[in-house]
Amino acid sequence: MGQQIYNFNAGPAILPQEVLVKSQKELLNFNNCGMSVMEISHRSKDYEAINDSAISLFKELMGLGDDYHVLFMGGGASTQFAVIPMNFLSKSKTASYVDTGAWSGKAVKEAKLFGNVHLAASSKEKHHSYIPALKDSDFPKDSVYLHITSNNTIFGTQWHQFPTTSVPLVCDMSSDILSRQLDYKSFSLIYAGAQKNLGPAGVTVVIIKNDLLQKCSDNIPTIFNYKTHAENKSLYNTPPVFPIYMVNLVLEWIKNNGGLEAIEKTNRAKQEAIYDALGQNSDYYKGHAETSSRSWMNITFRLPSEELEEKFAKEAKSGGFVGLKGHRSVGGIRVSLYNALPLEGAQKLAEFMQRFRRAN
Ligand SMILES: *Cc1c(COP(=O)(O)O)cnc(C)c1O
Repeated sequence: MGQQIYNFNAGPAILPQEVLVKSQKELLNFNNCGMSVMEISHRSKDYEAINDSAISLFKELMGLGDDYHVLFMGGGASTQFAVIPMNFLSKSKTASYVDTGAWSGKAVKEAKLFGNVHLAASSKEKHHSYIPALKDSDFPKDSVYLHITSNNTIFGTQWHQFPTTSVPLVCDMSSDILSRQLDYKSFSLIYAGAQKNLGPAGVTVVIIKNDLLQKCSDNIPTIFNYKTHAENKSLYNTPPVFPIYMVNLVLEWIKNNGGLEAIEKTNRAKQEAIYDALGQNSDYYKGHAETSSRSWMNITFRLPSEELEEKFAKEAKSGGFVGLKGHRSVGGIRVSLYNALPLEGAQKLAEFMQRFRRAN
């Protein structure tokens, strides 16, 4: 074993150590079948058990009942930017979007290909440093859905209070799904690429409420219709079996470690450690996000100069803290604190931040 590494990558990102160890143990001989899980039929009993378990663990952890379907699809969250309007939007209809950053912007771009897009609110004029307050009057009542991005991975902002509306709420939760306790029932559709909080890249989870599912268009390709995947338990075609297997192990890990209550508690302590270090050195580290919109998952900040930012990232890396360089559109430093990152990692990084400031 070399030096202890703390993985702050923004995505693909850290996975729980226990999950990696278990998958390694099972890699050559899954469930005593003499083969790996990647080499067996997706219609076998062994695989079906994984699929069923992942579906029921999502529902259990999120407190969802039989009025929701959990779907596993390919193509990443970006594919859903197009698949969502393909299913629900048409030339005579309007979908409302809140623009809180780069990912929201990409979702808007795809929706415009299918019908009318109403921009309910945007934080663009302040470089996406906050989550705009949303009033009922900001979007038409007959919108086919209202689309938001719960956590803005690049800018480091996060919704802490969600809109209550009769319009179906659609949410890109790619970078904060299962990171906290929420009223998940208030959403009609939740989607997330796996590679931040759920598992490896290669599968996207879509959680959809039945009443919205019934509204899917019938004039779209079979493979893009949510009904196809709901009716076939995501086994209409060959699903990405290995990523789903890994997601199932991550969900078991969450459940075995106290569920979302315990995850939230640890995540709260992690972000407190980093924001405290920022707050105590606020003349030196400048946070990008406004205080009330700060993300618990991705913390973005600048140093007094680009030279110091480079030095910070380089020295952090040699100290075992990897993946801290900010996204090119914000610059500076980004600290990603996904579920699998242990509290100790955030605490040690906070100490490093104090030391760095004193030395530089
Ligand atoms: C990473 C990310 C995406 C893109 O996910 P892909 O799986 O690469 O398509 C979309 N939305 C958010 C909020 C993200 O963090």
